[in-house]
Amino acid sequence: MSNKPVTDLIHHAYLPPAGFDAPQPGIFKASTVIFANTAAMRARDWRNKNGYTYGLHGTPTTFMLEERIASLEGGKHCALVPSGLAAIANVAMALLKSGDEVLIPDNAYGPNKALADGELKAWGITHQLYDAMNPADLQARIGAKTKLVWLEAPGSVTMEFPDLPELTRICRDAGVLAALDNTWGAGLAFNPFDLGNGVAVDISVHALTKYPSGGGDVLMGAVVTRDDDLAERIKMTHMRVGLGVAANDAEAVLRSLPSMHLRYRAHDIAARELALWLQARPEIARVLHPALQGSQGHRHWQALCGANDLAAGLFSVVFDERYSAAQVDAFCDALTLFKLGYSWGGPMSLVVPYDIASMRSARLGTWTQKGTLVRFSIGLEAVQDLRADLEKAMGALA
Ligand SMILES: *Cc1c(COP(=O)(O)O)cnc(C)c1O
Repeated sequence: MSNKPVTDLIHHAYLPPAGFDAPQPGIFKASTVIFANTAAMRARDWRNKNGYTYGLHGTPTTFMLEERIASLEGGKHCALVPSGLAAIANVAMALLKSGDEVLIPDNAYGPNKALADGELKAWGITHQLYDAMNPADLQARIGAKTKLVWLEAPGSVTMEFPDLPELTRICRDAGVLAALDNTWGAGLAFNPFDLGNGVAVDISVHALTKYPSGGGDVLMGAVVTRDDDLAERIKMTHMRVGLGVAANDAEAVLRSLPSMHLRYRAHDIAARELALWLQARPEIARVLHPALQGSQGHRHWQALCGANDLAAGLFSVVFDERYSAAQVDAFCDALTLFKLGYSWGGPMSLVVPYDIASMRSARLGTWTQKGTLVRFSIGLEAVQDLRADLEKAMGALA
């Protein structure tokens, strides 16, 4: 004890008794981590998760979340990053260098393509888009420069479900790393590290912002691997770029994680009910939901996710082409329970109208539909209320 109370406020001798336990883990907040002595400080290797070095390299709170996400995805190592997009960037920066090429599905999460077109291009890393629904197209585009292939199931917004095991097998046989954006599957719909017949992706990235958070209030991403060397490369870039996460955010995800499978199932059931209802509406030309008969790639969803019978609470509809984009905007504006907003996986239902033609490569011709597309993220409201909201808003199309 010092003789000045202000110093005691910082260096107080009292320590609470050890052995506290509760359902929810404690939150450890730190930039600075204290070492017992200089020898301990010098002996510490930040790469080993058997101790602590600095807040950016992990705390008990973030280590705990990393282990749980690795288990969820069926992986071994997990690195937490400040957003799902940062997870994509961490993978690209760790595995690509000037002169390399990365292949990205034409229907990938848009900002993944924007990163390739921006920073990666400026660093001398080229990219090609491929048609994820045509494995032969991927096969044909893999060349000597190809070092990484992105996979996504289903495609962003247009919801086509690719033959993921086949695309992954093509990468493996070509000796190219396969990284999956597994945000939709969330580690629940299928196991990215066991796609059947010994096929596994090398890396799974997950926007924890979506279902693991479940609240629409946290931004976080994860990079999961099984391979020790790959994990080390990811971790080195993670450290050099400074991609740590905040303890309060990690705690929010830890708190939501135990209920995730129940929420995912509830979002799924409600989404399928509303998708079927919309399919029968005269205003709607097509419903794009991988678990629905007639959706593109439905049989691939069935093969991969049929045993679990799980899909995220996300689908799109294409309005009949007799409705203009402005009329479809009026439909979206007339909704009251569905809010206009990006992202998904939270309790509140969301809607976004998209101009798909502008988002897809004309050269690949992966999108030929006429009519405006609207993407729905189904929340946890009563389905009857959501259906009534949709039905009322249909009146605004007239
Ligand atoms: C939301 C999302 C991301 C990015 O996550 P953020 O945390 O918003 O950066 C990446 N991929 C997919 C498929 C997503 O839905």
